[in-house]
Amino acid sequence: MTTVSSLPDPQVRAPVPRGSGGLVDRHGRVATDLRVSLTDRCNLRCTYCMPPEGLDWLPKVEVLTDEEIVRLVRIGVEQLGIREVRFTGGEPLLRPGLPGIVAATTALAPRPEVSLTTNAIGLSRMAPALAEAGLDRINVSLDTLDRERFKQLTHRDRLPDVLAGLAAARDAGLTPVKVNAVLLRGINEADAVPLLDYCLEHGYQLRFIEQMPLDAHHAWTRGEMVTAEDILARLTAAHTLTPDVEDRGAAPAERWLVDGGPATVGVIASVTRSFCGACDRTRLTADGQIRNCLFAREESDLRTAMRAGADDEELADRWRVATLGKLPGHGIDDPSFLQPSRPMSAIGG
Ligand code: SAM
Ligand code: SF4
Repeated sequence: MTTVSSLPDPQVRAPVPRGSGGLVDRHGRVATDLRVSLTDRCNLRCTYCMPPEGLDWLPKVEVLTDEEIVRLVRIGVEQLGIREVRFTGGEPLLRPGLPGIVAATTALAPRPEVSLTTNAIGLSRMAPALAEAGLDRINVSLDTLDRERFKQLTHRDRLPDVLAGLAAARDAGLTPVKVNAVLLRGINEADAVPLLDYCLEHGYQLRFIEQMPLDAHHAWTRGEMVTAEDILARLTAAHTLTPDVEDRGAAPAERWLVDGGPATVGVIASVTRSFCGACDRTRLTADGQIRNCLFAREESDLRTAMRAGADDEELADRWRVATLGKLPGHGIDDPSFLQPSRPMSAIGG
């Protein structure tokens, strides 16, 4: 390894060891799956994510431009072994340049698999353009099918838009369409079975995600969380679930065949059955910070380095160094656990 020569601002251009190869951490994990947050803004206010009044949004000047995003994604793919790119947020459909960013990403070689996580508001209009741009798959977040409860959970009366967006994604061939649901104790636990029935009927793949301590108001408690065990107990009261034996690899969802299959349901037990040991993710925030984990307390500032003139090799090296220090696990059960200062919407879920 050689060293990049130091340049004026020590914060921005501190020497970084020159490297080559992919994003490997000290525990031998290799990050090949990149989550890119395109904005911290959102048009919903899911109670477990954002306060009703919203958050202090990032100033526009700090948000990466479309060109800057595509450049960093290109470096990830061409130099660092990224093979999957998922665009998220905040709400990624709020970003006007989304189809262009997707098209530029799918044009990279080797072509990464490109997907989107969205609340689906506006998707009924945008699905064809996204499919045209080469988007492979889509995950839609939906926690209830009851219009009143949707309003209560998100502070917006937009359930019909979400259902129309889901149908449009399927019709545009963005399949398999996956639905992500978070259950909150005493609020939408009873929605588990209706959500599964709806997804079975429409050919969507449902996955439940355990609520994580990533809410903006730091109100999460382990005791209040609906666990994977609780979710499975509810589902098995209405359906027969048998473990799907297909190798899970680094995929976070444990899957079950529903009523003998072929339809499946997944549970992402991020808290109670952590999959950190197989984690293959790296994250880029909307303001150009690399995070090696959702729960990381440190970030690596690629935006400032990039705007100060760093070349591709230096940016790749900074990304490698940021990966090295990834902790072995999220440590939620550790008494010393501290919630990251950024909420999920500002990290990119
Ligand atoms: N706005 C888009 C959406 O809702 O799909 C993308 C961003 S959102 C932060 C991504 C995913 O994170 C959603 O499926 C949402 O349900 C999930 N999420 C947000 N806060 C969470 C939390 N505290 N625990 C678990 N999942 C959370
Ligand atoms: Fe917005 Fe997604 Fe957060 Fe809901 S979960 S407030 S849709 S960013």
